[in-house]
Amino acid sequence: MNKTELINSAVKFIEVSKSNYVTKEVAISDAVAGMKIYEDPVFAFGDAGDEYFTRLKDPVAIGSHFRLPKEWLPRAKTVISFFLPYTAAIKKDNSLEETWPSDGWLHGRYEGQMLLNKLSEYLQNELLNAGYLSIVPSLDKGFWSKGKPGKGLGKEDQLSFTSNWSERHVAFVCGLGSFGLSKGLITSKGIAGRFGSIVTELEISPSGRDYTEIDEYCSMCGDCVKQCPVNAISLENGKDHLICCEFLDITKKKYKPRYGCGKCQVSVSCESCIPA
Ligand code: SF4
Ligand code: SF4
Repeated sequence: MNKTELINSAVKFIEVSKSNYVTKEVAISDAVAGMKIYEDPVFAFGDAGDEYFTRLKDPVAIGSHFRLPKEWLPRAKTVISFFLPYTAAIKKDNSLEETWPSDGWLHGRYEGQMLLNKLSEYLQNELLNAGYLSIVPSLDKGFWSKGKPGKGLGKEDQLSFTSNWSERHVAFVCGLGSFGLSKGLITSKGIAGRFGSIVTELEISPSGRDYTEIDEYCSMCGDCVKQCPVNAISLENGKDHLICCEFLDITKKKYKPRYGCGKCQVSVSCESCIPA
């Protein structure tokens, strides 16, 4: 298996998957039944030994709890990072609602994540069948993430808004894009979508990064500041995770089992491209 075969099989998987459409059975409203969730994925490949991964152990990035690719898979050669951009229909749907997540966005966040997980497992199996041991960190039993500060005594309980594998940071290292003020990752297909990754023993030539700064693609236009319904983002201080998280908690109660917001990803200059 090579890079082209891997990308082609992912694109085909998304194109033919019935799960890439909101089915009538699950649709929250008639208007979103049949809505397509994702466009074709975009990929970037990182060297598992890239020293930028080690830099993520620095407390100013993620911290020592970040697990290196070789800590997930000792003979790891490559980190495969991909971005699934939302369709124009999903993005437009969310832009029409000022405060609450639209029905289409809720499906994109919930059913879209299920499809992303299926794609990750499909690619993992393709790699395994080709003879390359591979791991999807976000679906591995060793993965953990934390939201609001916890009261437990375990090391991870004392941390907040962090995890031992971050799709966006990994995508940054692999060359998929750089961070925006809203803390999303701006890719060549914009910021509105979902990220996934696989650590594999298959050796693939690294994509390289065409940026040097962590926020190089962000134009600081301030669109996301205006879009946020709860003022969680400011030009001076960036994003306040606690304010954002508290709003997401409200949507979890209101739309259970779905949730989301994503207003900072739509009607903004970085929605679907790298802004000028
Ligand atoms: S909307 Fe503007 S300021 Fe906010 S992340 Fe995108 S480019 Fe940066
Ligand atoms: S997800 Fe919503 S609440 Fe959170 S920063 Fe973006 S716009 Fe604000």
